[in-house]
Amino acid sequence: MTTTREECAALDAADPLAPFRAEFVLPEGLIYLDGNSLGVLPARTPERVRQVVEQEWGQQLIRSWNEAGWFAKPHTLGARVAPLLGAAAGQVVVCDTTSVNLFKVLAAALGLRPGRSTVLAERAAFPTDLYIAEGVSALAGGGARTELLDSADQLADRLGPDTAVVLLSLVDYRTGELLDLPAITRQVQAAGALMVWDVCHAVGALPIELDANGVDFAVGCTYKYLNSGPGSPAFLYVAERHLAAAEQPLSGWFGHAKPFDFEPGYRPVDGIGRFLTSSPSLLGQAALESSLEIWEQVDLAEVRAKSLALTELFIELVDPLAKYGVEVVTPRERARRGSQVALRHPDGYPVVQALIARGVVGDFRAPDLMRFGFTPLYLSYTEVWDAARQLAEVLESEEWREEQFGRRGEVT
Ligand SMILES: *Cc1c(COP(=O)(O)O)cnc(C)c1O
Repeated sequence: MTTTREECAALDAADPLAPFRAEFVLPEGLIYLDGNSLGVLPARTPERVRQVVEQEWGQQLIRSWNEAGWFAKPHTLGARVAPLLGAAAGQVVVCDTTSVNLFKVLAAALGLRPGRSTVLAERAAFPTDLYIAEGVSALAGGGARTELLDSADQLADRLGPDTAVVLLSLVDYRTGELLDLPAITRQVQAAGALMVWDVCHAVGALPIELDANGVDFAVGCTYKYLNSGPGSPAFLYVAERHLAAAEQPLSGWFGHAKPFDFEPGYRPVDGIGRFLTSSPSLLGQAALESSLEIWEQVDLAEVRAKSLALTELFIELVDPLAKYGVEVVTPRERARRGSQVALRHPDGYPVVQALIARGVVGDFRAPDLMRFGFTPLYLSYTEVWDAARQLAEVLESEEWREEQFGRRGEVT
């Protein structure tokens, strides 16, 4: 029995997260299934950003470093992101970008494992993670190198006395597969290596328990499920037990013990502050501050429950599209699924473009995956039903064959 649109409306009426929808700006007539790539704008954010621009910058000027808490912002925001990661305060800072933060934590992790030289990562990882791992390995010298796994299942064979660090994404950006963080972290640490998790596609989509599972390091971004806007600052997590010994090479003045003493030599500050490098991007941080006000009212267990229900519904509704060559790539098993559904189709690119033309926004990842992200705070069951219906119509009518849908933009 396929779920009907009426049943979806009933699910919406009983949805405990439904009131959050009013917190977001949702363009009229659009079903947005790309919040895993760029989250939508919170309604309260323009006012917050305006206040920082016009008041804190425009009027208070330089005084805002102290009076508006600008200087402490990477820490105060880090402490507010920490609960989303299952982390106690003092281990998270908000700064820079995911790639830059990954550079810092990978270098620190390698430094904590002298005599070991291999970084293990998944071949299918988000490529920037691999580029950064290769860059860090090359700079570290001493024969350090990054080796690629076909999947995390190979860890059992590949972990060894030379493995310094394992870097994995908690949720795969293409397939939406969710890895078993507790088991993999234990496995990696049992081999004497350190575990770095990239949680870009997990934070704000499901509960994450870094402290409880003894994770060593983590990085992630705030512009996907956390709705903080394009290019908003990322975060990094370093377990308390590593903070005294961990050193990172981007030794800028914000990580210095006394930045305003302007000493000629670098002396890292004690604690997580040593992972900072530069002046924070205050405007991006203002947007994060604003979206965190929403996240602080959210029960992540409810988010996870609805996320699973939405992805399950979408999978159920698109399964019959197998007759048009659509294959569900995302794991059907709940424990192995993040908050997106990836569908394989040889003409995925024009199909997604035709769908966007109908007001249903998903995206495409080469070579043949259509990606649909499900954001429980602002998506309804009815929208999921309508999106699946539109996809069926695009395939049935073959309108994706129209020439306009085959032209590629720079960002897919
Ligand atoms: C989105 C994403 C990034 C983004 O990196 P930036 O440096 O912030 O542009 C990195 N890694 C993964 C796994 C991602 O999903």
